[in-house]
Amino acid sequence: MSTELRLAEVQQKIVEFCNGCGRDPAGVTLIAVSKTNPAESIREAAGAGQIHFGENKVQELTSKMDQFDDTLKWHMIGPVQTNKIRQMAGRVDWIHSVSRTKELDEIEKRAEMAGRSINVLIQVNISDEDQKSGCEPDELPALLEHAAPMAHIRVRGLMGMASFTDNMDVVRSQFRMLREMRDKWQNHPDKRIDLEHLSMGMTNDMQVAIEEGATMIRVGTAIFGERNYS
Ligand SMILES: *Cc1c(COP(=O)(O)O)cnc(C)c1O
Repeated sequence: MSTELRLAEVQQKIVEFCNGCGRDPAGVTLIAVSKTNPAESIREAAGAGQIHFGENKVQELTSKMDQFDDTLKWHMIGPVQTNKIRQMAGRVDWIHSVSRTKELDEIEKRAEMAGRSINVLIQVNISDEDQKSGCEPDELPALLEHAAPMAHIRVRGLMGMASFTDNMDVVRSQFRMLREMRDKWQNHPDKRIDLEHLSMGMTNDMQVAIEEGATMIRVGTAIFGERNYS
């Protein structure tokens, strides 16, 4: 099946899942996770109207960004290495996977040098699995307060990944926990902290994520097909 057809199917599912839980599909942004897939597939998806693309490695991200004009929006969703922030700071629109103060410091510095502002999501470890990245829930307040005065970073919300399991009750409780954290901080008295976004849900758990309030879903396999490596 073509990328275009698979993309249309995913868009239809988003509408269906939103209808099923009384949400407006306009409140869910689809991020097409193009990692490992060629620029040609991105071009095909972009031709079908897809705007947001996600990558998890800086080098792959920057080489792909360079091949497209700024009608496309780019999301870094993979582990952040501070020594690579400089390479993407001039162009990346969103970084979903920030979990340490030194990453915030470096993004602020490089965004300022590039004369722009970068949207950041704080990744929280909601699955309690050691190999999963993200800050611990109790580290979140300090990270938010650290970022609040920064002029070239806008913290827009939280990102999380659920456990790799078919047990959707487990996945749901993890997504719900992230949503509760977001809700708690959304109306922070410090108006520089405003967490409207929840980036959660992938190919296998996007329905549960939408039901639990995701505003951004990161979908790769359902759009581009199975990957050979991740
Ligand atoms: C690869 C990846 C995705 C997409 O996963 P699929 O199961 O292919 O939809 C989403 N989020 C992150 C952080 C990823 O690395």
